[in-house]
Amino acid sequence: VSPDVRVGLGYDIHQVDPARPLVLAGVVLPGPGLAGHSDADAVAHAVADALLGPAGLGDLGSLYPASDDRYAGADSMQLLGDVVARVHDAGWEAVNVDVVVAAEAPPLAPYVDAMCAALRAVLGRGVRDPFVSLKPKRGEAVGAVGRREAIAVWAVALLERRRT
Ligand SMILES: [Zn+2]
Repeated sequence: VSPDVRVGLGYDIHQVDPARPLVLAGVVLPGPGLAGHSDADAVAHAVADALLGPAGLGDLGSLYPASDDRYAGADSMQLLGDVVARVHDAGWEAVNVDVVVAAEAPPLAPYVDAMCAALRAVLGRGVRDPFVSLKPKRGEAVGAVGRREAIAVWAVALLERRRT
């Protein structure tokens, strides 16, 4: 018998692009935005990959290729909602998701609650209330994050086989 829980890991990194708005977990934040084909919501992308892996559904890049013009400027929280529906159809649902966001600017602490609430709403599809936690980290003046060249995100998700 295969186990009823599986863990998933997602990672994403986007280059800083001051000309664009910064959108993380669907929340528009002050400060320089991120380059990308979609809205460059690295939190939504990392969480999506953390869900897709253990559900056996591959990864975001192959499901929604950047070469496909349908996803130009796409709302990544909408894509995440689509991913949650696919994961649901594959027989799984999220128990909890934990996220680390490495960003030098802006300070993310004031927005953690709003980002978690937005993720909970999408992950729970209005019928469940999965536990979501998010921890901001700084780049400590080293690497691409520390030089304010990029924002990087890691996410883990615990999936449980659906009972309904
Ligand atoms: Zn991305």
